[in-house]
Amino acid sequence: MTRTSSRFSDYVFSAQPGYDEPSLREAFSHAVPLTSVVIYCYDPRVREIPQAVATFLGNQVYPGEVILDANGSRVGSTTTMGTVSVAAGRAVDAIRSVTVGEYLFGIETVVVVHHSNCGATSYTADRMVANYAHEHGGADISKAYDAGSVSISDYEASLAYDVALLRAAPGVPRHAEILGLFYNTDTGELTEVVRDAAVRG
Ligand SMILES: [Zn+2]
Repeated sequence: MTRTSSRFSDYVFSAQPGYDEPSLREAFSHAVPLTSVVIYCYDPRVREIPQAVATFLGNQVYPGEVILDANGSRVGSTTTMGTVSVAAGRAVDAIRSVTVGEYLFGIETVVVVHHSNCGATSYTADRMVANYAHEHGGADISKAYDAGSVSISDYEASLAYDVALLRAAPGVPRHAEILGLFYNTDTGELTEVVRDAAVRG
């Protein structure tokens, strides 16, 4: 194992003497009891979504407490929920995070939440592509993103799309249950729209 001389290498687990990935991975799995990932919109009006989902599921701890060691270093947390906040809460932007969560902690539930009056319902993918090119010197984003994930025109369809996208992703564990929920931005009410049970065996 060669030590790097990078400025922040003291904070890199894999750069430490005696680094052993299996034992470190085991330690991580106990440091945070993460069992779920919640994907939701970065719209500041809906910041309460993770807390609402924790209440909805009933078996989650969020935000939980940070655990300190004797030196005051932050070594863990009691939360069970990881959160991914992205435009419109679309699953395409969150799959890698689910994979990392599964690898380090073990994920049993993935929840994707779309919310009422989301900005992503205010435009179409085709118009965005055309306008973006016009406004940014011809920049072509027509192939940059999955067209089905760019905007929302029907919440039942967008939630079904995202749950299917997650289920089809090899980086999302087959043993995880996947839920698609609709969130009312004004009342905070969550409605279950899609539930894809864990794949057994
Ligand atoms: Zn939104």
